[in-house]
Amino acid sequence: MARLRRRQKKEPQREVPQRPRRGGAPIISLEDVTKVYPGGHLALERVSLSVDRGDFVFLVGPTGCGKSTLIKLLIRELDPTEGSVRIAGRDIGALPEKKIPQLRRNVGTVFQDFKLLPNRSVYDNVAYALQVIGAGRAEIREKVPETLRLVGLSTKLHSYPDQLSGGEQQRVSIARAFVNHPPLLLADEPSGNLDPVTSIGIMQLLYRINKTGTTVLVVTHDREMVDKMRRRVIELYEGRVVRDETIGGYTEESTREFGMRMRAEMGVGVEGQTNGHDLLET
Ligand code: ADP
Ligand code: MG
Repeated sequence: MARLRRRQKKEPQREVPQRPRRGGAPIISLEDVTKVYPGGHLALERVSLSVDRGDFVFLVGPTGCGKSTLIKLLIRELDPTEGSVRIAGRDIGALPEKKIPQLRRNVGTVFQDFKLLPNRSVYDNVAYALQVIGAGRAEIREKVPETLRLVGLSTKLHSYPDQLSGGEQQRVSIARAFVNHPPLLLADEPSGNLDPVTSIGIMQLLYRINKTGTTVLVVTHDREMVDKMRRRVIELYEGRVVRDETIGGYTEESTREFGMRMRAEMGVGVEGQTNGHDLLET
């Protein structure tokens, strides 16, 4: 709470000339990034890419091509061997250690294995993300149910992770990543453990989150999903960017239209509806 207040107070004092520069900077920018792991494995080689605010981007490529390494560089879980990684115009390699939690607050993360706290309820798993950043009780009481409603889990607030399906657990972890409304959300194979119908529901949710203005970067193996979603695709192969293109035919759709089209095109029919989430319109 104290931390949040301090940040709010500071806002008007920011140097005015910095604003347009930072505001106009891409949310993600990698310049000639090379990552060599200790032991000598070259995981990324001279990767340069940039992602604008509000984009929805897929990161694809075979196992071992460097996708998770790239994600880890974006939250400074790893440092590049060479090159620079910028988030919202800021070179995160230059951040002092004590500023790293602040970076991670602004970058939500979702993983294939959910990483939920097994002994806490759905509500508490999401509330915890706000507690650690010092949010007050009133804020938590407002935001947690609101976010769980967004992900279609209003009826599961008091359930524990082991009482939920895989898709539901992933929704909790997305709620946890999004409850603070970060400008950037990274998802590393979020539907890797889920069946096709459930995967569409997860993509639909990420699509919806993207519509709120949050930039979304999704690592996936699911070629069919990527082709059907018609968004930007960055492909890595052996640590290098081998493709970066936006698949044609992109149209603005509501979340519901998106879900219906995806299910139709992937041939899973209306029985693919999950948690009544499709009933929510955005
Ligand atoms: P992906 O997510 O695309 O499957 P990763 O980024 O996890 O690939 O890994 C890229 C390459 O780097 C792989 O060959 C992997 O074995 C290697 N690698 C990943 N993590 C480490 C590590 N901590 N130490 C050494 N090599 C690693
Ligand atoms: Mg990986």
